[in-house]
Amino acid sequence: MNRELLRNLPKVDELLDSKEIKKLLEEVMRPIVVESVREAIEQVRSEILSGDREKLEGDDVLSIALKKIKRKNSTNLRRIINATGTVIHTNLGRSLLSKQAMTNVINAASNYSNLEYDVEKGKRGSRYSHIEELITKITGAEAAMVVNNNAAAVMLVLNTLCKEKEAIVSRGQLVEIGGSFRIPEVMRFSNAKLIEVGTTNRTHDYDYEDVINENTGVLLKIHTSNFKILGFTEEVSIEEMVGLGEKHSIPVVEDIGSGVLVDYTKYGFVYEPTVQESIKKGIDVVTFSGDKMLGGPQAGIIAGKKKYIDMMKKNQLTRALRIDKMTLAALEGTLKHYLDESDAIKNIPSLNMILMNSEEIKKKAYKLKRKLVKATDKFDFNVEMDFSMVGGGSMPTERIKSFVIKVKGYEMKPALIEKKLRECETPVVVRVSGDSVIMDLRTIKEDEFKFIEDAFKEIG
Ligand SMILES: *Cc1c(COP(=O)(O)O)cnc(C)c1O
Repeated sequence: MNRELLRNLPKVDELLDSKEIKKLLEEVMRPIVVESVREAIEQVRSEILSGDREKLEGDDVLSIALKKIKRKNSTNLRRIINATGTVIHTNLGRSLLSKQAMTNVINAASNYSNLEYDVEKGKRGSRYSHIEELITKITGAEAAMVVNNNAAAVMLVLNTLCKEKEAIVSRGQLVEIGGSFRIPEVMRFSNAKLIEVGTTNRTHDYDYEDVINENTGVLLKIHTSNFKILGFTEEVSIEEMVGLGEKHSIPVVEDIGSGVLVDYTKYGFVYEPTVQESIKKGIDVVTFSGDKMLGGPQAGIIAGKKKYIDMMKKNQLTRALRIDKMTLAALEGTLKHYLDESDAIKNIPSLNMILMNSEEIKKKAYKLKRKLVKATDKFDFNVEMDFSMVGGGSMPTERIKSFVIKVKGYEMKPALIEKKLRECETPVVVRVSGDSVIMDLRTIKEDEFKFIEDAFKEIG
């Protein structure tokens, strides 16, 4: 421990009196400044005490304090650069909105609107009316509504159609999504009784038929969106489930997870069930997320037969799960693109990134590499072919050909580069693989290059 250094630590008042801080006080609230200055002094003190700091220069504490002030004065929810290549990254906010969706949000947020007002009749209207027609047009369903997220959608459907009744589910479909959504628990909360049938790898139609009785509420199919079982497997097809439902007059419900509205096999991807297909095959009620492969805001969409949707609209739970006007605005803007598939692919960022051609990504990679080589000489940058993931528990086996920049530090280990990039003013989130840091250009926009350049200058 170095007593001399401890004695040289500046006092709070000294720092507050410095001209840099005084200038900041004109724009930043005083409590934020004082707290940051205290924390900066404390941080340096503990570095000295632990032996991590062996010298203290004039402006060291001040510059730490200035950084802290800047960070505290910016919003907590802030921009980061997603260099992971995972398009629908749940931790990083899932989907980015299209320009049209953004414009709609700004309009809805800053002006009064006809959210629940029928302008023609001059009377109270329905929040769902704005979007129902669009959803039915795109999916082919008779009716639709929207709630807070897909977890809420599943809960509302079960609570409406299966309260104190039995929901029959295949053991192979009792999924956990992202740690917080587990089918058995969602059932419990909805007051539906879970009846498991079949085995993890194989379930047959007679497994369902054997347990159907007068207290059966729904036959539930859950898309195992985030994993694949391979080998000796069998699932009961949608057609067979619909047949069983019709035979016994029991509604068939499908939680399809990702709201895929485009047939991706056309673009060379693995088959992923679409909402349209399930509706066409006769599923009574389908639920899906708004912010996964659909590429819109967080929302849970329920589409299907009108008689069931009407029951859900009347459920008291609907009031608690209802969406905000900004969500509605964003969802309308997003869904409109789907009226023309080529428009959706071009303008919805998630779709655009998932389908982005690897040659285009390669060009971006070389462009960024040139800038980085100019910005710093502490690292070796190399463009290489690699693979990206869709993410968000969607298409888990799909590896999409992409191009990345492989970064090796001449003095820094990859784990340290990763950490430092994450701690930059605009954090850059990367992957670490072996002895390198990987930045996948699929999820990096060209107007974000400057943040990455700045980050490497900051850490270099
Ligand atoms: C993602 C997912 C959910 C949860 O959806 P949220 O919109 O995140 O609430 C539920 N079921 C399936 C099958 C999913 O893939």
